[in-house]
Amino acid sequence: MQSVTEWLDSTAAEYPDKPALFDEYETLTFAEYRRKALAIARELFLRNCREKPVVVFLEKGIRIPVSFLGIAYSGNFYTPIDPEMPPARIRKILENLQPELVITEKSLKDNFAETGFDGEYLFYEDITEQETDAELISAISKDAENLLYVLYTSGSTGVPKGVGITHRSVFNYINWVTDTFQITENDSFGNQAPFYFDNSILDIYSSLKTGAALHIIPKTLFSQPVPLLEYLKEKNITTIFWVPSALIVVAKLRALKNVDVSDTLKRVLFCGEVMPNKQLNYWRQYLPHVQYANLYGPTEITDACTCFIVDRPFDDSEPLPIGKAISNVEILLLNGDKEAEKGEICVKGICLSPGYYNNPEKTAEAFVPNPMNPTETMYRTGDIGQYNTKGELLYLGRKDFQIKHRGHRIELGEIETAVSSLEGVSVCCCLYDKIQQKIVLFLEKGADEKQVETGIKKLLPDYMMPNKIIILEKMPINSNGKTDRVKLKEYLT
Ligand code: AMP
Repeated sequence: MQSVTEWLDSTAAEYPDKPALFDEYETLTFAEYRRKALAIARELFLRNCREKPVVVFLEKGIRIPVSFLGIAYSGNFYTPIDPEMPPARIRKILENLQPELVITEKSLKDNFAETGFDGEYLFYEDITEQETDAELISAISKDAENLLYVLYTSGSTGVPKGVGITHRSVFNYINWVTDTFQITENDSFGNQAPFYFDNSILDIYSSLKTGAALHIIPKTLFSQPVPLLEYLKEKNITTIFWVPSALIVVAKLRALKNVDVSDTLKRVLFCGEVMPNKQLNYWRQYLPHVQYANLYGPTEITDACTCFIVDRPFDDSEPLPIGKAISNVEILLLNGDKEAEKGEICVKGICLSPGYYNNPEKTAEAFVPNPMNPTETMYRTGDIGQYNTKGELLYLGRKDFQIKHRGHRIELGEIETAVSSLEGVSVCCCLYDKIQQKIVLFLEKGADEKQVETGIKKLLPDYMMPNKIIILEKMPINSNGKTDRVKLKEYLT
């Protein structure tokens, strides 16, 4: 295989009339999915766009995966950008990506224009109604080593980093997913992950490969656990792959006692942050016959590189392992350059991104030669791991200031950079209160809290907003002359 589009070709040939994609407003069969994607590809082809980035600026819905596949058919790669992201941050992404084309809708054009983008706009509602030419598109040369997408993650210096991932890495991952969890055309996925977050790769491509249906769950349902479970039941969802935060909301509000999904739900998979056993035990108590799996991995290794299929009872206070490496992936635990019992989780194998897009410096920092075999490249995750006596990997925490908040990966440094750029702010520091699950921003006296709040709204997405601001007379300094984060932690409890 050279391109993920071969999955859509074969599935659309086998199940042309089977519903493939569902959102609140639209449904598409596999044949329609392919037809629209081919129409998009032809439009890109006619504009001589090859092996280039194409931005997808659309509200969450089935139009996004259709655009992704259209871009893949045309031999280009996609970058989804959320219309809710502030234009100032989008501008930073565009500076790095340098796209010439964006796929959007007419109603969103003005929003995107605010970023100063001076390339060409393609409107989804127009281009998907154009002709198709499957022969023309199949003649476009494809290579499994080409990029399929570039997803932007939070960067510690305030500039988002674009992680490029190839078709080959996605084949390897999805083949492992569909074999391991035995996904078939009779399955239905209930998608939670935004399409700018790589958990969505599992949903999009496992369904494409097998002919399973993909239901894009309305975002608002994730704050209403009972209607959310009713939705799962009504749509016969068999498989969910959510961030633990979404599963925790259901557990906290004890929603499973109101809606019985035991006849439909078969698999509960999760990834992206720690899943506490306390909340998982709640799910397991109500749904003991469901298969549960904890997947682990950063965007840089194609969504997940280890997996633990929950196979035994755990106490509420025990950590849930992240398990073992998936197919064609190897994990090393390194302390400095030496292998250790406990150390930084380093990853090598087909899953590795070729690097950060247009960013050789950051690429060289994170994608480094394996000290055991310098001809190989490995990715340093910044996560600390350790094996338990059963040989299963445990996640112990981070080495740096990267956090997970409401399922989103955030570099506290990115928030600090944004806040520092505001008028009236001399010094600032951000900490994460893990217990309260709050981003706490410390400012020195002189800064105007209200002004800071309005200022950062223009710079950062909603999920990065500090939940609490503390104004100090003077920022504490440690012996190295740096902001004393240990002292600041005292304010958290
Ligand atoms: P992202 O690139 O957004 O997927 O974030 C990757 C980071 O999320 C990892 O480096 C970990 O710090 C954290 N993470 C992902 N999966 C898990 C998991 N199952 N358990 C604990 N932390 C996780």
